[in-house]
Amino acid sequence: MVLGGAVTIENFLDSVRSKMPELIEILQRFGSPQIRNQGTIGGNLCTSSPIGDLAPLLMVLNSDINVFGKNGNKKTNIKNFFKGYRKNILKKDEIILSIEIPYPNKKNKIFSWKLSKRYDQDISTISLAINIQTQKNIIKEIQMAAGGVAATPKSLDKLCKSMLEKKLDDAIDFATENLDKFIQPISDLRGSSHYRLEAMKGLFRRLQICLRQDKESFSIMEVKE
Ligand SMILES: Cc1cc2nc3c(=O)[nH]c(=O)nc-3n(C[C@H](O)[C@H](O)[C@H](O)COP(=O)(O)OP(=O)(O)OC[C@H]3O[C@@H](n4cnc5c(N)ncnc54)[C@H](O)[C@@H]3O)c2cc1C
Repeated sequence: MVLGGAVTIENFLDSVRSKMPELIEILQRFGSPQIRNQGTIGGNLCTSSPIGDLAPLLMVLNSDINVFGKNGNKKTNIKNFFKGYRKNILKKDEIILSIEIPYPNKKNKIFSWKLSKRYDQDISTISLAINIQTQKNIIKEIQMAAGGVAATPKSLDKLCKSMLEKKLDDAIDFATENLDKFIQPISDLRGSSHYRLEAMKGLFRRLQICLRQDKESFSIMEVKE
């Protein structure tokens, strides 16, 4: 799927409804109808907030960003786009022209969870997006990216590598026991560093439960063991 940088969040939501329904909930929780109809994908990425909702999701989908500038076009993977707190690679004369979002492998499951004080109309304290494939309970492919755990949205590549080819339960145990080696979130008014680490561990447990239950729907509101 290729979406222009000026596509609104609401139009992004419309374009995933039939093709990637796993993304519906996270996009529906983006601001309010007014914000979704005004705010754009390009604006969300260029704000380069560590808690922007789109970046983790687009990272685990291995999206590319097409940039247009005075010296022509260039393409960069979204993992290389963010450079620091609210900083990105764009030069003054460059804009995001479009975003290329590959459709995930049909064998993979996509999750995108946002924790905030309210369900609606709130920005994330932390967020976690996951693109995972398991076979006979072994993790065969995994990409994870998180918001609210560093100065930029963060792709958890090293942690993913450690979880590959492990049994799901062992991989989740490893992730929760060693999480502080991979992320060191800050404390701010939305949540302490300790809270963010513990909440992220909770999201890994949620992943474990979702995969065990092999559910069709993975709303943040409904998982029970
Ligand atoms: C009430 C409220 C609720 C919100 N809720 C959420 C939320 O739930 N989740 C979330 O992630 N964000 C949220 N936001 C933040 C914001 O709405 C989004 O980040 C939105 O996507 C920004 O898009 P925009 O088009 O309005 O960007 P703008 O604010 O117009 O632009 C932001 C920056 O990016 C630059 N820019 C814009 N488009 C491009 C482009 N194509 N190429 C290069 N530079 C560009 C602009 O020049 C500017 O510097 C919220 C904001 C408000 C006010």
